[in-house]
Amino acid sequence: MEVTLLGTGAPWAAQRATLGMWITAPGCAPLLLDTCGGMELARQLRRAGLDRERVENVLVTHQHLDHAGGIPTLYLGLDRFTVFATAATHEGIAALVHATYPEMASKAGVANGVVESNASREIGGFVVELFPVVHRVPTVAVRVSHGGKTLAFSADSLPCEALVACARDADLFICDGFVAEADGAPMIRLARDLMHPTAREAAEMATRAGSGALALVHLLRLSDPARILEEASDVFRGPCTVPDDCQTYVV
Ligand SMILES: [Zn+2]
Repeated sequence: MEVTLLGTGAPWAAQRATLGMWITAPGCAPLLLDTCGGMELARQLRRAGLDRERVENVLVTHQHLDHAGGIPTLYLGLDRFTVFATAATHEGIAALVHATYPEMASKAGVANGVVESNASREIGGFVVELFPVVHRVPTVAVRVSHGGKTLAFSADSLPCEALVACARDADLFICDGFVAEADGAPMIRLARDLMHPTAREAAEMATRAGSGALALVHLLRLSDPARILEEASDVFRGPCTVPDDCQTYVV
């Protein structure tokens, strides 16, 4: 399985696009997991050397614009694709499409697949499990498995048991690592208010879960990647990275 991070930043991280990733495996249809923040999806796919025509299955963790914002872009650029999300997230996506391109809202080639939390299903050859996590809107963490390998993605969430369960024994845990606690009390408070974990908390969850490797994403604009990496590496003893946009991992 391979995963390319299309975006690794929070909304105002000017050097990074927002969250999206492209997952492939032999015999599977590529899975776009979250969609970056809007038109940047087109640029990030191109930067990663990916043809938009390959987009087929899209899974969205929650309705926030830095994760779901690329959906209207897909309506503009593609004739046919399927959007998988929980019912609550589909409501948010529908409102987003209606607010931006209402004339396209009933596009014939777009299908909606409703996925349930705490359940496992097959999408394009991958086994996908969703875990309800703790964020400002209904949000799911995602566990993707294929060929005996597992990738876990936190989406956005405060530390919680569901997120540890999602990351359990995953070969790679891609986790929200919004700020480092070394950034100071105001940044920790901001992470709490916006319902994100700190780098230390992400590393603690990865350790408890027995994850094989940890990648920290969703960096705040004020965050220093080196400080985030140092803080997480102090806690998590496996391979730990803070990827740049368009970096690819082999899982
Ligand atoms: Zn969010």
